[in-house]
Amino acid sequence: MAVIGAGYTGLAASRQLARAGASVVVLERERVGWGASSRNGGQVVTGLKLDPSTLVTRVGPSRARELFDISLESIATLEALIAGEAIECEYERTGHIEAASKRSHFDAFRQQQRLLGRLFEHRVELVSRAEQRREIASDAYYGLLVDERSAALNPAQYVRGLNAAAVRAGVVVAERTAVERLSRKSARWAIETSCGVVDARDVLIATNGYTDGAAPALQRRLVPIGSYVIATEPLPVSVAATLLPRRRVAFDSKHFLHYFRVTRDARLLFGGRAEFAQPTPGATRRAAAILRRDLAKVFPQLAATRIEYAWSGNVAFTRDQLPHGGRLDETYYAGGYCGHGIAMATYLGALVARRMAGEPIEHPLLNDRFPAIPLYRGKPWFLPVVGAYYTLRDWID
Ligand SMILES: Cc1cc2nc3c(=O)[nH]c(=O)nc-3n(C[C@H](O)[C@H](O)[C@H](O)COP(=O)(O)OP(=O)(O)OC[C@H]3O[C@@H](n4cnc5c(N)ncnc54)[C@H](O)[C@@H]3O)c2cc1C
Repeated sequence: MAVIGAGYTGLAASRQLARAGASVVVLERERVGWGASSRNGGQVVTGLKLDPSTLVTRVGPSRARELFDISLESIATLEALIAGEAIECEYERTGHIEAASKRSHFDAFRQQQRLLGRLFEHRVELVSRAEQRREIASDAYYGLLVDERSAALNPAQYVRGLNAAAVRAGVVVAERTAVERLSRKSARWAIETSCGVVDARDVLIATNGYTDGAAPALQRRLVPIGSYVIATEPLPVSVAATLLPRRRVAFDSKHFLHYFRVTRDARLLFGGRAEFAQPTPGATRRAAAILRRDLAKVFPQLAATRIEYAWSGNVAFTRDQLPHGGRLDETYYAGGYCGHGIAMATYLGALVARRMAGEPIEHPLLNDRFPAIPLYRGKPWFLPVVGAYYTLRDWID
């Protein structure tokens, strides 16, 4: 079996396949974890990209419950894997904070709390603006929703540990090996790479936001969108301990949201979709300046703090904003996590691998009829329009 891409999806899948007895090679164009899996925000949060009430409106209450439960199952799977493989990645069940950017958003939190309790049997706590300083050293928000089930980890350490686990299971990982073309020959795959041709019975495409012309069918279904992050210099311990005193990971309630957390080495990591464009060095510099300004609005006490790092990466969106996995043009695929991929990529990668190994699995996220996005060939020409739409929505909502 061949797996293209050495991020969470590809490594979780290859580990699963090797444990089921398959001979597996992972082909990675750059280095292990080079894609989003080493550079994300490290927030392992409950739920999917779509908020619970939108999910219910789109797919109905029982399907919505199923999907929400899958998000919890994916976190449980991640925790079991990290514990079982003894992966040192600073995993901690911190809980998450969603911070209301407007007064009306806190009213929406009340409805969300009721919906989560009634339909999903999932408990979250609301913290009013008057009391929010027990959770966050900021007055920028209109109250908080707190979910104790979420967690934090160091993404680069996790992908390194997952790679080591896959190798221990017998997987061969070929770095600096770009897949250029796939062709079908006598019910097998000939995989042309920058280092020669690989012959495989089955192929899993695990390239998510970095899917290129080597997988044109998947490229027409996943939209890569840049996400940008800055990290401060290490803060004095007394300051770091006060920003988010319960060590929770946090994000706000806007469409163009900010996400942030304090790392183990006492930096504030602050990210968002500050530029609605493909990450380039120029876009990353511009985004870093925007994020720096926004960080100082949330935490004015850090206005003079130095920013030591800025980086960017691709997340992959799908048209329905749900992750998908299954078969496509006789290959297997998994992806489209819409920025919620740490637990979900680990989970869906392993799930698709079980199907590749022959298990007859029916699952709400397995979709062999994943529709292409009309008028889209892999270059997201519509991003400026979509960006303008969500900017307007943030202003109105
Ligand atoms: C800045 C940022 C912040 C994020 N924050 C969070 C967060 O806080 N919480 C969360 O849950 N999720 C977050 N995400 C999303 C999460 O990181 C991803 O969903 C997840 O890492 C996807 O893993 P993956 O293995 O599917 O893809 P990736 O890790 O992107 O790996 C894909 C790999 O495929 C390789 N590849 C592509 N084409 C080829 C080819 N032709 N040949 C060989 N190799 C190829 C690439 O080099 C890459 O290494 C964030 C993402 C970004 C970018």
